[in-house]
Amino acid sequence: QDYLARIKQLDGQLNSFITVTDEVALAQAEAADKLIAAGSTSALAGIPIAHKDLFCTDGVLTTCASKMLHNFVPPYESTVTGRMLASGVVTLGKTNMDEFAMGSSNENSYYGAVKNPWNLEKVPGGSSGGSAAAVAAGLCVAATGTDTGGSIRQPASFCGISGLKPTYGRVSRFGMIAYASSLDQAGPMARSAEDCAHILQSIAGFDGNDSTCSEVAIEDYTANLDAPLDGLTIGLPKEYFGDGLNNDVATVIQDAVKEFEKLGAKVKEISLPNLNLSIPSYYVIAPSEASSNLSRFDGVRYGYRCEEPKDLMDMYKRSRGEGFGKEVQKRIMVGTYALSEGYYDAYYLKAQRIRRLIKEDFVNALAEVDVIMGPVAPTTAFGIGAKTDDPIAMYLEDIYTLSINLAGIPAMSIPAGFADGMPVGLQIMGNYFAEAKLLNVAHKFQ
Ligand code: GLN
Repeated sequence: QDYLARIKQLDGQLNSFITVTDEVALAQAEAADKLIAAGSTSALAGIPIAHKDLFCTDGVLTTCASKMLHNFVPPYESTVTGRMLASGVVTLGKTNMDEFAMGSSNENSYYGAVKNPWNLEKVPGGSSGGSAAAVAAGLCVAATGTDTGGSIRQPASFCGISGLKPTYGRVSRFGMIAYASSLDQAGPMARSAEDCAHILQSIAGFDGNDSTCSEVAIEDYTANLDAPLDGLTIGLPKEYFGDGLNNDVATVIQDAVKEFEKLGAKVKEISLPNLNLSIPSYYVIAPSEASSNLSRFDGVRYGYRCEEPKDLMDMYKRSRGEGFGKEVQKRIMVGTYALSEGYYDAYYLKAQRIRRLIKEDFVNALAEVDVIMGPVAPTTAFGIGAKTDDPIAMYLEDIYTLSINLAGIPAMSIPAGFADGMPVGLQIMGNYFAEAKLLNVAHKFQ
């Protein structure tokens, strides 16, 4: 009740929720009371959380922040939300986001922009901006997000919370509305690494409903949070500290690294030589996969259908033209072009080859160091509207996050300090399935 009241009081300004499920939440809270009375040991029992509005929730509106799905009520539950329900959470509602998770500022939402709770004139980051703002403003204890190219880490950084993108395949994608299937991954957004660990424990692990979900055994993510960091080797990629990084952000990151040295870690300079290719390759691969994934929204089976179509072609064209926002249409066109005959080799295949090089950079670096650290984003949260007319400037926001998705490794953003009064996130990247190590490193800092 407390959290629902807080949402009512504050979310008119923040716009972090698309749907608030009061009745569902209160019923789940009562059920959780019973679970706890019956001796449940689940760390999540009775904990009020929210889900990014691209997780299908049985019987609850799921819009992906698109007019296309403004009336879509899924008949089934995603694996992530289902597993959290089984852990006894109380679901307060569904959070705002960039439409179909395309964006870095949460300005591409059919339901309007989300405001950053630290400064209402600034963006919360994207695409999981509603989740980040809601957690930062104390409207929920934690939230889920998804990260295709930074969408958990960058809003976590901009809003001063902790967010974890797990290894690709660690968490099932079943019931997540797909953006770019070879990159999409769900993860926790919370106030601490410890809270992230509890949520990961609930959602991670094999699921037969997702053919890319890994069978590697899950670890106990809270068992080693306090393990000492003596002898930990931290790699600092020189490419992360070059041109384009705001000086004040750089200082916060360098100070954070010094704290880790005090905790017993050693620092080593490393190189990720293909970093500058991550934006061009991601912005070919992600739109290509999106153009294919989004072909299912045709006005026939579910979602938005235009008024009085003249014939089938007219219905397809107008339903998609009216139902998708501008950024989504742009990505579909870029992706369709890159996949078309004659261009496939030049763009899509070339981008996949570069992806392999980027992955090898990380594999080589992680053979020498335990974790890699750097900034999450080149700047702190920028002003609402500041980059909407400049797509290149917007895509440049993703320079430090995209390569992690292309490689498939796990990475976290944790609050490291402030620059100009706005939060700055430190990014911690690790080897495949090293989530427990990342959480340990993050926890010792907090
Ligand atoms: N900014 C990236 C994009 O627009 C991030 C998306 C994401 O991680 N969902 O594609």
